[in-house]
Amino acid sequence: MSSTSFRVMKFGGSSVGSPRRLRQVLELIGLHAKAGPLAVVVSAMGDTTDWLLEAAELATRGELEEALTVVARVAHLAKTNATALHPARGTPLAARVDRLLAPLQQLLQGISLTRECSPASRDKVLAFGEWVSSTLLAELLEASGTPAAFRDARQLLVTDDTFGNARVDVARTREQLQRQSAGWGASVPVIPGFIAATVDGRTTTLGRNGSDYTAALVAQGLGASEVTVWTDVLGLHTADPDLVSDAYPVPHLTHGEGLELAAVGVRMLHPRTMIPLIESGISLRIRNTMHPDHPGTLIDAIGSRDGQRPTCIATREDLALLGIEVRKLSDQFQLGERALAALRASRVTVWMTAQSANGQSLAVVVPRPDVERARAALETELSQELARREVEPLGVRQPVTLLTLVAEAMGQGVNVAGRFFSALGAVGVGVRASAQGASSRSISCVVDAADTAIAVRTTHAAFNLAHQQVSLFLLGKGTVGGQLLAQLRAQQDLLRERHGIALRVVGLADSRHTLFEPAGLSLEGLEERLARVDRGEPGTRTLVPLLDELRRLPVPILVDCTAAGDVAPLYTEAFRRGVHVVAANKLPLALPWAEREALVAEARRNHVAYHYETTVASSLPVIDTLANLVRTGDTVRLITASLSGSVGYICNELMAGVPLSVAVRAARDRGFTESDPREDLSGADVARKALILARELGLPLSLSDVALEPFVPASAQADEPTEAFLRGLRALDGEYAEKVAHCHPSGTTLRYLARIDPSKLGTGTPVIRVGLHAAEVGHPAADLRGSESFVSFTTTRHSDFPLTVRGAGAGGAVTASGVLADILRVSQTLRGR
Ligand code: ASP
Ligand code: MG
Repeated sequence: MSSTSFRVMKFGGSSVGSPRRLRQVLELIGLHAKAGPLAVVVSAMGDTTDWLLEAAELATRGELEEALTVVARVAHLAKTNATALHPARGTPLAARVDRLLAPLQQLLQGISLTRECSPASRDKVLAFGEWVSSTLLAELLEASGTPAAFRDARQLLVTDDTFGNARVDVARTREQLQRQSAGWGASVPVIPGFIAATVDGRTTTLGRNGSDYTAALVAQGLGASEVTVWTDVLGLHTADPDLVSDAYPVPHLTHGEGLELAAVGVRMLHPRTMIPLIESGISLRIRNTMHPDHPGTLIDAIGSRDGQRPTCIATREDLALLGIEVRKLSDQFQLGERALAALRASRVTVWMTAQSANGQSLAVVVPRPDVERARAALETELSQELARREVEPLGVRQPVTLLTLVAEAMGQGVNVAGRFFSALGAVGVGVRASAQGASSRSISCVVDAADTAIAVRTTHAAFNLAHQQVSLFLLGKGTVGGQLLAQLRAQQDLLRERHGIALRVVGLADSRHTLFEPAGLSLEGLEERLARVDRGEPGTRTLVPLLDELRRLPVPILVDCTAAGDVAPLYTEAFRRGVHVVAANKLPLALPWAEREALVAEARRNHVAYHYETTVASSLPVIDTLANLVRTGDTVRLITASLSGSVGYICNELMAGVPLSVAVRAARDRGFTESDPREDLSGADVARKALILARELGLPLSLSDVALEPFVPASAQADEPTEAFLRGLRALDGEYAEKVAHCHPSGTTLRYLARIDPSKLGTGTPVIRVGLHAAEVGHPAADLRGSESFVSFTTTRHSDFPLTVRGAGAGGAVTASGVLADILRVSQTLRGR
């Protein structure tokens, strides 16, 4: 950059919208003005342009008083900002604002009298926003010691008379800028953005957000080498940060990428802004006023040389998709050209077109407000073909979103389209139409508006993140839930780095509180935070709306670590929304046969996972092993199992001579039993697990079919507080000591076993039996230690030596690790897809 060439800086409405930001702007300009020639372009303050539009509308309806109230709002904002920065000159600055706005009041008065606001008048009204902001900025700069002068854009930018969206006469504009800038001297020109004038001096505007365009034109006219757009974001992001929390600023893009992004409607870039920059090789920087040290995004002719550089995902919302289909294969009658010409003639912006290779079907994407105009234009153009029924009546799909992937290096990448579409397919997003430009710099598709967030997040992750994101909504923070959180805390980084899986807890609920944050909850102190929130009763009714949010996140999983009895309806709602369920909760699986079947079928129908490995023998791979046996065509003849870690532990203690009451208390203290040990001692828990296993074999049984001999007789299970129950157990100590004494001479071991014999189905003899058993030496249950569980499968293939799974089968930590394994199983299946 030669020292004499101009740099152009543009400040948007938010940068001059509050005293705090305005102060920063004054400092920035002061600083950069010292480094060489500088031109400043500025927007109207804050929402001023919207307010002015409102004022014009009110005046047109004859509501002058209301219109003037809006003007007062404009004046107030300007005065507040100006006087805050220069209190000493508060009064003259306020008077200046009033003087600047006086003609606006007259103008609105005229409009309200005639009840008519032509586009020309509206442009005159709108111009006041930029006029005020640039005049004040120039004065404030002067007052703060930076020589500056207001330079009216209406004498610099020459346009035609298309009011509201005027076309610029580039040659004349350049001429004006060259000529006038010669007389500017050392003071910084402060030029209003957005506004211009016709050759005969009538005020025009360049269309909403036109100030960037002004800056590009000023740069081109002054022969500047660089334009900096100062705004409120850190740069152009890899995706809309409002939709994707992982989106990050892209350091360096080519003009081509910039134009591509502009063409698909990235808010910060407009194609008409890009064109002068490309023509004159001017680089564009996007930077944040409040973080002037951040480099932001640079867009120039070279772009980044980094092969690994990010891919941007752009979205354009509020669109409609119009489809045209030709009935007969031979009749294509230049469908594409004619349709586009008709749309152009009716001034409908077409965001995307896609035509089938044989020209038989055409899809066009247009702004939703234009859809009727577009439809009318097409129907008129194709009226004959429609009348002869050679063309199907137009189909309209709305609202839809245009999703575009932009990357300069896309042409060199392998299977970009495949990755793009399979990422969308994996989360169930339907692609309504698609197009890949010849530039190979971009690929676009149309998705339903409701799928926007999930589509952007998914494709953004697939192209920019090395890891698969998984979103967890945890129910329960007790023994298992609490342990799971602890394991997530400990494992998260490793999982991300080694296995490419980023687990994010987005929700946590217990029986009274709910926390939900789509961007992810910090795991530090999460349980304590949960206890502090109050969102009322989190029954199914409060949780279902959260499932609607959950389903929009990458790989959504509902993780149930509770023992709640009423969760089946919630699971059903989850399945219907494409949310996977991982559960340690046995109760839904022990519901009456038809209900359990309906639940499992719902998961299958919606192609989501329902994993519940930990419901039987905790994390031991029992369900999975059984499923594999069945899947591979083996026939299970008998299942023998010790399914209660707690009862197993108590049996071992008894065998060692510990009295029943002491053993039960110890088991409870070690977290082996359910919080009410009667659940275990009654055998209900074992019966449920045995039932879950039997049902995995397809046996249509229910709990009432289980022949259950309680571990501790029913009389000891009266309806009394747990503590009283534990004390009452002492009365049974003698009886159990006797059972043990009975075992000793024969060398057998007291065990509480479940037995499932499928051959008994329909014979009148119970298929499932649960009861006390004296296991002989050599029996697989005989030498179980501590709280060990075991399940042995005697099958056609494993007949001589039953297939046995054995190990620790109780405890919060072990169960939580099983839940985590199920979660990872869901994520891995999806990765492989
Ligand atoms: N003030 C105008 C608008 O809000 C122009 C701009 O901000 O760029 O559209
Ligand atoms: Mg703006």
